Amino acid sequence: DSTLDIAHASPEELAALHADLRAQHRDLVAANLSLDLTRGKPAPAQLDLSSALLDLPGDGNYRAPDGTDARNYGGLTGLPEVRAVWGEVFNVPGAQLIEGGNSSLALMHDVVVNAVLHGTGDGELAWGGQQISFLCPVPGYDRHFTILEGLGITMIPVPLLADGPDMTVVKDLVAADPQIKGIWCIPKYSNPSGSVYSDEVVAELASMPTAATDFRIFWDNAYAVHHLTEEAVELADILATCEAAGNPERAYIFGSTSKITLAGSGLSFFGGSAKNVAWLQKFLFCRTIGPDKINELRHLAFLPDAAAVTDLMARHRAVIAPKFDMMLRILAENLAGSGVATWTTPKGGYFISLEVPDGCASRVVALAKEAGIALTPAGATFPYGKDPKDSNIRLAPTFPSLADLEKATQGLTVCVLLGAVEKQLTSTDAV
Ligand code: PMP
Repeated sequence: DSTLDIAHASPEELAALHADLRAQHRDLVAANLSLDLTRGKPAPAQLDLSSALLDLPGDGNYRAPDGTDARNYGGLTGLPEVRAVWGEVFNVPGAQLIEGGNSSLALMHDVVVNAVLHGTGDGELAWGGQQISFLCPVPGYDRHFTILEGLGITMIPVPLLADGPDMTVVKDLVAADPQIKGIWCIPKYSNPSGSVYSDEVVAELASMPTAATDFRIFWDNAYAVHHLTEEAVELADILATCEAAGNPERAYIFGSTSKITLAGSGLSFFGGSAKNVAWLQKFLFCRTIGPDKINELRHLAFLPDAAAVTDLMARHRAVIAPKFDMMLRILAENLAGSGVATWTTPKGGYFISLEVPDGCASRVVALAKEAGIALTPAGATFPYGKDPKDSNIRLAPTFPSLADLEKATQGLTVCVLLGAVEKQLTSTDAV
């Protein structure tokens, strides 16, 4: 029985379970599966929800509301009507929100690179001439870490709790070290833990004294409206909180429609204080003559207001909530009694974060790979790809069909148990 409490099993029980799991794993390998739980991609059924976009704005409909010919160059910061709709979604005044193409990650990269090359506009030195660091709440999003690694910026992991980063650790670090210039935050339904920053954490981030006068919060609100339950979890207004705390330029806000409309062909946004928006705009002007206004018009016709966004997200939820429910059910059925794994139950977002015994995550990922189940590489949720405990695995249930997801999760739990039993056997041998 796979619900045996592994840590407290007798040597005989462990040996029998090991043989049974080995056999189950051999069967999985023989089944020649090709399943993928790696990237948080929308499923085809989710992309279908926005297929109307493929016919919009429609032949002849190229005029913006003010009469501008959207086919032509210009309009560097995006159409005001689009910025107003998405400003409501991301809690930023439309005038302080820039639409900047199909990828918010590209905007994050731009912002970091501009600060490295030119500084943040606070009168401080460019970040590039110095050895600077960022705080990285972990587990976190690998692409955030990749941006910093490529630029030689030191990453300091800090624990991410259910209500945000461990602020005792964060406050001590930023108060002491003027070379700590930033922190990555995924404040709602975080990738991969599902954490949601509490009002207290937001207030502390906004008000904490920092040794660096050009300290910035990179507020990646990628899952702002991506609820998985009836509860539309609320997030405090970071911009207003920073302003009220006397740190109006502290937050750089990012968001996109990648997991709202079409992941590869959506809109992305940068928001912040008027001063920060002007700062980025200056560099955008060097990089482009303007964004894809036809795509903006297309999105404006499809999602003319925030209420339309809410409706669409309810339809996404109908597609993906059953996938999360299924994965959580199988994890509970197969692992709950074993005492070797814990996992998050997110209220939104795209991921479940799985904790296996220390030293087991890479082995579990390797066992799954042998069985044709692709998992996010162990360590990916940590800076430099190094999970010091080798215990975290990010699970992404949205993309596979329900039938594939069931097979993949069943197989995954066999690999988790097998990895844990192997470890238990070697530690028992060692005694
Ligand atoms: N931020 C987070 C936290 C994400 O999880 C993702 C996508 N997985 C992105 C940004 C990428 O956003 P975009 O498609 O707008 O570049």
